[in-house]
Amino acid sequence: MIGDQFHFHIENDPKYSGLNVNQGIEPLPSVSEDSVSQFLKNKKKRAYTVEQYVDGILNGDITMLSQAVTLVESSKPQHQEIAQEIIMKCLPFSGNSVRIGITGVPGVGKSTFIEAMGKYITAQGKKLAVLAIDPSSERTKGSILGDKTRMEDLSVDPNAYIRPSPSAGSLGGVARKTRETIVLCEAAGFNHIFIETVGVGQSETAVHSMVDFFLLLMLAGAGDELQGIKRGIMEMADAITINKADGNNIEKAGLARVQYMNALHLFPAPDSGWTPKVLTCSAYKKTGINEIWQMIDEYLIHVKNNLYFQNRRNQQSKFWMYETINEYLRNDFYQDEQIIRLMEESESKVLKEEISSFAAAKKLLEFYDRIRNNKNKHLK
Ligand code: GDP
Repeated sequence: MIGDQFHFHIENDPKYSGLNVNQGIEPLPSVSEDSVSQFLKNKKKRAYTVEQYVDGILNGDITMLSQAVTLVESSKPQHQEIAQEIIMKCLPFSGNSVRIGITGVPGVGKSTFIEAMGKYITAQGKKLAVLAIDPSSERTKGSILGDKTRMEDLSVDPNAYIRPSPSAGSLGGVARKTRETIVLCEAAGFNHIFIETVGVGQSETAVHSMVDFFLLLMLAGAGDELQGIKRGIMEMADAITINKADGNNIEKAGLARVQYMNALHLFPAPDSGWTPKVLTCSAYKKTGINEIWQMIDEYLIHVKNNLYFQNRRNQQSKFWMYETINEYLRNDFYQDEQIIRLMEESESKVLKEEISSFAAAKKLLEFYDRIRNNKNKHLK
């Protein structure tokens, strides 16, 4: 039974601590107070009601969609409140799409590939939204995936909408915002969603938990270690594509394809009942793109027939409910100033062995409970 197998789904594995390891930096409000132009933009934003946003999105108005996504990304409580209302109202109009995750190390050709595949899709009159989860922004506060010069053709394509990764926040937070952005994009009529991420670690788990198909881009001639691709990421992939199969790299790409096919055979059979495929392409020369698209189509038919598609989406919704609760509780706890002070104190006591780790944790949690009770009393 597919439903039973979901117990073993990667996100349900207790070993998969994926999204809660990174603490991340304090999210910046998406609107900076000292910028006059941002302030004016902000004023303009406030002029719209939730209904106006929803109408705009449902009519495919990109400006409204972009502004609503900015609200989703904002850490200001009043923005979050409107954003959640918009999402709620858009939810019944979402879901009717193909969500594809694309990963691979920097330089493998992700943006070139997305541009080639994206143009292929929009040429068929389909609408494509490209979103990103960029863990590097946690370290640099700047987003590589937000670089506007990438995907030049696609960025001016009226059937495409490219939204760079939210610029700051913990991975869990950024991923949740991307997941919410999917809802808005789908409601705006984007029936194809690409989510790009850099293949270096935990962000794949986040992307995997919001897509129907997960594509790993690789290069020929570089060992797995060199490409920094972990076994777990290969295991998540529904397909591997060896990119840059052009010029005198074609033969090497063919060899790599056979090697990866053999490697994938050693992995346990995925819950989808689909045997992951390995293909080659040249994103630069736009060869192999058609074959990859046909394979994705084949996959979709396969998983819709055996009900895995809907099951996976249901499991993902459940996963995101808990993930959102976890994120909220973590923020509520770790961002409280009184807790922060007590945490520092407790930490030094634990280090000096004046108190055990468990007793310190218990004390902190009890204190958190008291703060919450006090807050509730004030609300009453
Ligand atoms: P990303 O960092 O994964 O997004 O990679 P980019 O798409 O920015 O590509 C990195 C470099 O590889 C760029 O110089 C691209 O022009 C080049 N590139 C991407 N795809 C191909 C390909 O299919 N063939 C060749 N020869 N070069 C490619």
